Amino acid sequence: MTESEFRKDIVSGEWVLVAGGIKKKPNFLAIKKPKASKRNCPFEENRINDENPILWTPKLGVKNSEDISSWFLQVVPNKFPILTPHNACPLPESNGPYQSMIGVGFQEVVITRYHDRSLALLSNEEVFLVLDAYISRYRSLMKEACVEYILIFHNHGPTAGATVGHPHSQILALPIVPLDVSRSLKGSENYFKKYGKCAHCEVLKKELKDKKRVIIKNEDFVVIAPFASHVSFETRIYPLRHGSNFEEVSSNEKKNLAKIMRETLAKIRNSMNDSDYNFFIHTAPVRSKNFKHYHWHIEILPRTNIWGGVELGSGTEVVKIPPEEAAEILRKTSLPVRQAKV
Ligand SMILES: [Zn+2]
Ligand SMILES: [Zn+2]
Repeated sequence: MTESEFRKDIVSGEWVLVAGGIKKKPNFLAIKKPKASKRNCPFEENRINDENPILWTPKLGVKNSEDISSWFLQVVPNKFPILTPHNACPLPESNGPYQSMIGVGFQEVVITRYHDRSLALLSNEEVFLVLDAYISRYRSLMKEACVEYILIFHNHGPTAGATVGHPHSQILALPIVPLDVSRSLKGSENYFKKYGKCAHCEVLKKELKDKKRVIIKNEDFVVIAPFASHVSFETRIYPLRHGSNFEEVSSNEKKNLAKIMRETLAKIRNSMNDSDYNFFIHTAPVRSKNFKHYHWHIEILPRTNIWGGVELGSGTEVVKIPPEEAAEILRKTSLPVRQAKV
């Protein structure tokens, strides 16, 4: 691509700017940061957050709940929550033109054992256990009072907002639907109303035909660099089977998701000098009905830019590597096979 181009996202309707003519190795994109040391890491303990029970741990390697010396994964309540657990739903309060609501919700942390092994460095079997943790906790939290949306996300590296260097994901059960999610839901609904089709299925049909933005594919999932990427090297993992709810994946789909997720994160790591990134799962709200217009997916956003005036003022950043080129680089990045350590 030699000329820069504005591109429109068919779901959100937002315009993004993709730069043309920059031929550089993607290594220049990674923001340099100090590596978090294992010494003083709060997640090295055998029982993390020992004031609270472990919410979930895989059965393997744990003989009973007292003996967790061989643990691989623990889900525990966040030790420093911003939200407070609740049994009843708070009502919004009005004060003149203003409205507010008590900050209720659940905050959990999914921690894998090895300080120096990010998700990209785990085996497929180990990533499968991480997904298992997400789904098990999702299913438990959806039964709690007043939970409207469950947000699962992962921050890798300090520029992505990870305050602890040890690999961990977070689960937030919220009494509201967050802004970015409701935009994605609304955009899909509008498209469905207008064309009678799922916008995401349309995207997949087009991408699988064009192939130039497809990074990897297996029986159940495909990974693409979105046409209107919001950041350089943005990637999305889509289930090929249309469905609105992440927690409804079958066991076989979970296996294929673990495999493709591990490969995608490893490709990002290996091609971009271990760039920081965030990923999150976009799925339908907990009490959703008639969400046939929605298609759940995972968005991975590498951190390649520090936002200045242009980005904050316009709400978008210039995509320095066109998605077609990012897809080609990621497609060509080869990976070693990893063995499970659990
Ligand atoms: Zn650690
Ligand atoms: Zn769909």
